[in-house]
Order: sequence, then C-alpha cells, then structure tokens
Amino acid sequence: MIFEKMEQYDYEQLIFCHDETSGLKAIICIHDTTLGPALGGCRMWKYDTEEEAIEDVLRLAKGMTYKNAAAGLNLGGGKTVVIGDAEKDKSEAFFRALGRYVNSLGGRYITAEDVGTTVNDMDTIYQETPYVCGISESYGSGGNPSPMTAYGVYMAMKRTAKEAFGDDSLEGRTIAVQGVGNVSYNLCRHLHEEGAKLIVTDINDDSVERAVNDFGAEAVGIEDIYSVEADIFAPCALGGILNDETIPELKVKAVCGSANNQLLDSDKHGSQLEERGIVYAPDYVVNCGGVINVADELQGYDAERAKSKVKEIYNQMDKIFSIAKRDGVTPTVAADRLAEERIDSMMRVRSTFSLNEVTTLNRR
Ligand code: NAD
Repeated sequence: MIFEKMEQYDYEQLIFCHDETSGLKAIICIHDTTLGPALGGCRMWKYDTEEEAIEDVLRLAKGMTYKNAAAGLNLGGGKTVVIGDAEKDKSEAFFRALGRYVNSLGGRYITAEDVGTTVNDMDTIYQETPYVCGISESYGSGGNPSPMTAYGVYMAMKRTAKEAFGDDSLEGRTIAVQGVGNVSYNLCRHLHEEGAKLIVTDINDDSVERAVNDFGAEAVGIEDIYSVEADIFAPCALGGILNDETIPELKVKAVCGSANNQLLDSDKHGSQLEERGIVYAPDYVVNCGGVINVADELQGYDAERAKSKVKEIYNQMDKIFSIAKRDGVTPTVAADRLAEERIDSMMRVRSTFSLNEVTTLNRR
C-alpha cells in the first residue's frame, strides 16, 4: 500500500524514525532530488493515525518539490512529520534524535521550522546535523522570514496587477487584505509606501487598529472583506477561503496573497476565478519568499542576496502567466507546469556522464 502511494507521484524515499528513550516517532519523506537536496520543514502534529501522518508527509513533500522548483531554487522537495503533541512531547533528546536521523541522510534532506516546531527546536537539531535551516540568528540564519515573504508577495502582486490592469504600478489601487499578521503587516507597509489604498480585516482588533493607524487603512468586518469594491484581494490568513460561497462575492480583478492553499478545490475554484475574469496568482509561488530566505542560509546567509532572489518572484510570475497563455490553462496549472518543465530540463542536463559520480570505476 505504501509503495503504491509512492509510485503514484514517483517518491524517492520514506524514512521511519523511532527513538524509544525520547519517544520520537517521525517520518521523513524525500519526494524528488533532481534539482538538489530536498528542503522542507518539520511539522509536529497530533495525528490520530499513522496513515494520516503518512498521507500528510507525502502530500507536503510533493508540495515542496513544486514550490522549490517554481521558486527557482536548486533544491528538491521533502518534509518531516513528527507524531506528537507540540505542547507536551518535546525534549532535548527528542529533537537530537531527529537530528541524528536527518544527519544519517548525508544531506539528501534539509529540515526547517513548520507548524508545531520553533527556532529553538531547530537549534537543538543543529547540535546533531548541519542539514537544518531556520536556526537562531546568532548561528548565522536570516531570522524571521515573514518580512521576506511579504516582499515576495508584493513583487508577485505587482506582476499580477500588470496582468490584470496592463500596468504594474499599485499607486492609487485599492487592495483588500484578509488578516494583518506577520506577513501581511509588512505587505501593507510596501503597499502603503507605493501609494495603494488599503481595506483590512482581522479577527484580532489590535492588528486592525495598527493597520488603520500606521497606514490609514479602512477597516471592515470579517465577512465583508470578500465583497468590498477593490482592485486586488489579498488573502493572508487562512486556507480554503476561495470557494463556491466567496468567489461569486468578489468584485476585484485579481487575487494575490500569502495564505497557503487558498483555493478550496484547486481545479474547480481556479477555473471559477478564470470564468469570472479574475486573475489568480498561485499561492505557493506568491509566498515562496520565506523558503528562498531560509534556503539562503545554506550559502551563509546574506540579506541582500536573499532579497534579490526574492525579487525574482516577479519574473517567475511572468513565466507562469506566459505558460497559462501558451497552454490555455489557469495560472495554478501553469505554476505546476513551470515546476515540472524545470525539473525535466535539469534532469536532461544532469544526464551528462560525470566520472566522479561513478565511484565503482575508481576501485582497484
Ligand atoms: P499570522 O498568524 O501572523 O497572521 C495571520 C493573521 O490572520 C492573524 O493576524 C490572524 O488574527 C488573522 N486571521 C485568522 N483568521 C482570520 C479570519 N477568519 N479573518 C481574518 N483574519 C484572520 O501568520 P503569518 O505568518 O502572517 O502567515 C499568514 C499566512 O501566510 C498563513 O496562511 C501562512 O501559512 C502563510 N505563509 C506565511 C509565511 C511566513 O513567512 N510567515 C510563508 C509562507 C506562507
């Protein structure tokens, strides 16, 4: 049953990690390493069953292959899920045991923070392996990735505006923002600096107040954000919010935001947006500034270099809209094709014979 699942999307490796002393139960999945070592975060979650954990790690690792490829990174896709309660089950031994498993893969997989894990946990893993990102700034990391994610969303939004309005300037445009948290506050700052008008909502009143005071944003109710008169809608809070109920309400010409998995059903709702003449910027490309920032640590973090790579999201969006036109598909499908075409072409490039890859020829 597991090999059947692995065959379906050509997974490379699934590793089950167990440590009795610390209670560690983790699964590492390496989906594809054509472009380079598999990079993807470590999620700690109270999975009800092992099957659920396996499904999740397979799905998330494949998602990272596409994200890293479409981001233009020389990295493959992988992920770890840890079965446990992030509030109760953590200990030094727990993450050091996981670090040793990651290390045993010799760099085929690089881990990082995700839901349920923190910078502290990554620092503990770092005691056992260099194959970890998102560690403390004192160890030379880039720190909180949210400002870089926001800059990437801003770049993607400019290119999306060009697609929708023929001009990438956001000056005088009205942007409806759902959720003004870590990423989105920084996004609002870029938009405000360029002269955009902001309409915001958040379940947290203090966050709304901050956006109103700092950027002159107009505040609206939680449910009203879908139907406001605006040019662009930026979902920056939750997944699944583009669905049968909300899409008919939208009055915007484009959607571009940081939230993961915005389309409840990516085919159906991607097409619904297209039918309504709304340009959709695929979320996993829009929000890849964070992973670009964290991956820069692998070369010794340099903020300027990371920022210039994040700026490239504008050009990646350009390619996505070109593929969408070339193939007559939605931008979501086009983003997947961009990733697949890049992986295919690198596979061909790398098929050239290289002596040092064939160790058996060196034997006596
Ligand atoms: P965050 O928790 O700081 O911000 C989310 C905000 O949304 C919060 O202020 C929260 O109160 C608000 N919110 C929650 N439910 C809401 C609702 N129903 N209506 C309106 N507002 C609501 O999180 P973040 O780090 O800014 O991330 C935002 C989104 O971007 C998430 O979906 C996250 O997965 C995604 N993302 C973040 C990063 C990153 O670097 N932080 C990278 C990639 C993707």
